Amino acid sequence: MIKLIDLTRQYKLIQKEVEAEISRLCESQYFILGPVVDSFEKEVATYINCTHAIGCASGSDALFLALLAYGIGHGDEVITTPFTFFATAGAISRTGAKPVFIDIDPVSFNMDPALIKGAITPRTKAIIAVHLYGQVADMDPIIQIANDAGIPVIEDAAQTIGSVYKGRSAGTIGQIGCFSFFPTKNLGGFGDGGLLSAEDPSLAKTLRMLRVHGSEKRYYHDLIGINSRLDTLQAAVLRIKLRYLAEWTATRQENAAFYDTAFAGISEIQSPVVMPYTTNHVYNQYVIRVQNRDALRTYLLEKGVETEVYYPVPLHLQNCYQDLGHKPGDFPESEKAAAEVLALPIYPELTIEEKDAVVVAVKGFFKQA
Ligand SMILES: *Cc1c(COP(=O)(O)O)cnc(C)c1O
Repeated sequence: MIKLIDLTRQYKLIQKEVEAEISRLCESQYFILGPVVDSFEKEVATYINCTHAIGCASGSDALFLALLAYGIGHGDEVITTPFTFFATAGAISRTGAKPVFIDIDPVSFNMDPALIKGAITPRTKAIIAVHLYGQVADMDPIIQIANDAGIPVIEDAAQTIGSVYKGRSAGTIGQIGCFSFFPTKNLGGFGDGGLLSAEDPSLAKTLRMLRVHGSEKRYYHDLIGINSRLDTLQAAVLRIKLRYLAEWTATRQENAAFYDTAFAGISEIQSPVVMPYTTNHVYNQYVIRVQNRDALRTYLLEKGVETEVYYPVPLHLQNCYQDLGHKPGDFPESEKAAAEVLALPIYPELTIEEKDAVVVAVKGFFKQA
């Protein structure tokens, strides 16, 4: 079986370094924030070229904290896309605000900036732009519209650490960037973890306070925050992995190029499109589009190739969002994408034999079909 992702292989590469670091922390019994988290934050800031990086407990919390920093809550609206992982909209709902969806551009799978203006109301307090699969959304028009409306842009860069849009790194283009270190992300921890990036020093200070119950000085609370710290143990693992991230990303890109070439002659497959404004697609997922997706997926599984659908149900059609009153057809591009996308194994440690086997299996499907 060729798994969609096999994290045990990456672990083997760094096992000694990780074990030494974890054992050192266990000896010290230093588990909450501290110098390891500080160092990791500085190193990520260098990697993505931002001024302030603030670790937190997950990508979901990063999104939630970003909205809290702007005081967003009941009665407010936040514009985002329905074709994303649930956490993007879930974070909006956790504040009490309402997610307002706009459809995606079918080529990039990211928010279609042309649809933002029509969704803005006097209650709109922010836009969350999602960078799906490893490529940044078309940020210039998004920022322009947000500036005109006087609202911030929060970037959901959970899948896109290191991707570059017109010379700027994902998460550093809007006011706040949100990152996830969920194990299957390009930079994945040994559990949950997340991070916020920001340029504005007072905004960064607010975010830092919000992750520790809104306090700057212990037991004195200026804001109502939450407990959402990046575990020291996670930071220790992530620091080690960050040193390899550029190399692992390059291998993902090589794998993607391998598939691109192999699938070029198959008219039924739409391979991922690198937009002209993207200089570093980081391929958290390699997602193809096909009409008969479910049949291909079943066939591939029979041939021993694991795949996944990110994501099968757009958020406006989720049970928990019935109260938003949406119906099928409201966001046709998102719905079409949900029916046609298929993620193939792309992780850096795939062997050439495995990549070949994936290609043979995919080609086999279209030959018999
Ligand atoms: C993974 C992910 C998140 C949530 O991150 P967690 O660390 O799992 O909470 C949010 N948005 C997107 C697009 C993601 O892929």
